[in-house]
Amino acid sequence: MKLSGKVALITGSGSGIGKAAALLFAKEGASIAVSDINLSSAEQATEAIKQLGGRAIAIRADVSDAGDVDMMVDKVIKELGGIHILVNNAGIPGENLPTIESSVEHWDKVVRVNLRGTYLCSRRSGQWMVSNKAGKVLNIASIVGLAGFVARASYGPAKAGIVNLTQTLAVEWAKYNINVNCIAPGFVMTPLDGDLIRSGRLNLELIEKRIPLGHRAQPDDIAKAALFLVSDDARYITGVTLPVDGGWLAYGDVCAK
Ligand code: NAP
Repeated sequence: MKLSGKVALITGSGSGIGKAAALLFAKEGASIAVSDINLSSAEQATEAIKQLGGRAIAIRADVSDAGDVDMMVDKVIKELGGIHILVNNAGIPGENLPTIESSVEHWDKVVRVNLRGTYLCSRRSGQWMVSNKAGKVLNIASIVGLAGFVARASYGPAKAGIVNLTQTLAVEWAKYNINVNCIAPGFVMTPLDGDLIRSGRLNLELIEKRIPLGHRAQPDDIAKAALFLVSDDARYITGVTLPVDGGWLAYGDVCAK
């Protein structure tokens, strides 16, 4: 098992990618702090881990609230004995409206949850990791933070900020034996974009045509890359952002059949 004896805090792990990572890391021997803004989904994921024979606790926390983050990290350290792995996964989508029609309130909310949340959780967990001279931080950004996407003026820049925060913390914490990396998922089958798809602000047919591998990812496709990056197999990797996108970013052709 790749994560025996490790404690992993995964934010937003009541659903989607975070839940898939929580289950996979638990199968690899880690104790999991399942944290989410929605307590009942965190409790359901915790129950699923326990049914697999794993160890897990559920915590309700809003990653954009500094008080919640302090409480969450303190609880993980007290109940599970430390934080060896932090996955900054909690996130919310943008409005997908043309920028001139978008709302400032929504921009603030998207940046607050996605970018400030990643900063707050890294800062607080990093205090334990720095004093213990060990740790793995994995951020979940998006391909939308690595290229220009129409109508993504809040989500894209928030995710781009996470890519730079990854590099910043990687170089700052390298001397403490802490690896900081990032995954940029492409389009993944989770509830995240459900409202955007239902309202027609995302067109699934066009999206799937644009993906070289021809289909969206399953949450587990992202979780498997996450497992690699938080394991000792990736001990010499720090400061990178790995696209897990079915070839989306590699694709530059608009002419070929
Ligand atoms: P998801 O299924 O909606 O999971 C996100 C979880 O985060 C939900 O349980 C959500 O709770 C929770 N959450 C939302 N705001 C929170 C907050 N302030 N504090 C704590 N938890 C909060 O979405 P997902 O697709 O797995 O997304 C996980 C990460 O992957 C996100 O950072 C997302 O931006 C990124 N990502 C997703 C895709 C994709 O195509 N799905 C692509 C690229 C990147 P509620 O459901 O109650 O809001």
